[in-house]
Amino acid sequence: MNKVRVRYAPSPTGLLHIGNARSALFNYIFARHFGGDFIVRIEDTDTSRNVAGGEASQLNYLRWLGLSWDESPDLGGAYGPYRQLERLDLYQKYAQELLDKGLAYKEYRENSDQYAIRFKVPEDTDYVFKDLVRGELKFNSKDVEDWILMKDNGIPTYNFAVVIDDHLMEITHVLRGEEHITNTPKQMMVYQAFGWDIPIFGHMTIIVNEQKKKLSKRDQNVIQFISEYESMGYLPEAMFNFIALLGWSPQTNQEILTQQEIIDQFDPSRLSKAPAMFDKEKLAFINSKYIKQLPIDVLSQKARVFLEKADINIQSDAWLNLLVGIFQDRMTHIGEIVSLYQSFFHQD
Ligand code: GLU
Repeated sequence: MNKVRVRYAPSPTGLLHIGNARSALFNYIFARHFGGDFIVRIEDTDTSRNVAGGEASQLNYLRWLGLSWDESPDLGGAYGPYRQLERLDLYQKYAQELLDKGLAYKEYRENSDQYAIRFKVPEDTDYVFKDLVRGELKFNSKDVEDWILMKDNGIPTYNFAVVIDDHLMEITHVLRGEEHITNTPKQMMVYQAFGWDIPIFGHMTIIVNEQKKKLSKRDQNVIQFISEYESMGYLPEAMFNFIALLGWSPQTNQEILTQQEIIDQFDPSRLSKAPAMFDKEKLAFINSKYIKQLPIDVLSQKARVFLEKADINIQSDAWLNLLVGIFQDRMTHIGEIVSLYQSFFHQD
């Protein structure tokens, strides 16, 4: 078998969201389990949505979660560049190849010599693939209109760029969110047009809230950005553990697993077909378990930051250790030390 190569391909549109973190995490776990490479590629072609600092912040929070990668815009690597806007000449070259083969055509903008390039969708053709999570999926091309490969500003669309990159970067498995299932037949068309091998696809189910509704970024009832958990005093190891259980389960009913245990026990056939429920209580439970395992002086140093921010006078290290020791078993996140302290010492 070729060396496993997987990638996480975020658009730098803002903070790291729990759904993206999950995609990154499973690609990372997959790579580490199979002794493969994990690549971070930045998909920045939707320029109106890019946010300054978005890329750096995503990478920082992935690092905070305990992920590491083998190739990326910041590390470099043999398959770079790793930002799509730095690869425009490649997309242009491959689009030209499809034009030359008669598999794509130009569409001129009115009264202009600028043109977009559309893919000529084969007629009445079935696209079948065996999804790692869902098994066989089948689509017919009659439901797909000729779609744009390159916009008239020379920037590729996602469905085109993703194929060029996954091919050139020798990606073997594409693990991503369920919202990309309907993009897959379009991507298969491009692989076939070039006569390239098609990677194995795996689409992870949606994450739902406790009302079984798809988690939406606007949902005020669920905290969804990794940065928010960090600032509340959730531990990265606990977050990693919790996210790994969003759509996957080990063979045992063990719920507290280290990163290494998850990597060792990972089995793609245990990725769930049912939506993953974001269970806040479970997250609090897992985090409290990790807090209980921390040596007191380590926990004290973390708690100190929250207490100081709340202007609570820390009398001495011994006092802090004592205080933290009292509440260690009660905290679901470290920031809670403040309200626990206040309710304990300030009852009128
Ligand atoms: N940039 C895409 C996204 O953020 C990546 C999709 C893929 O993994 O193919 O959803």
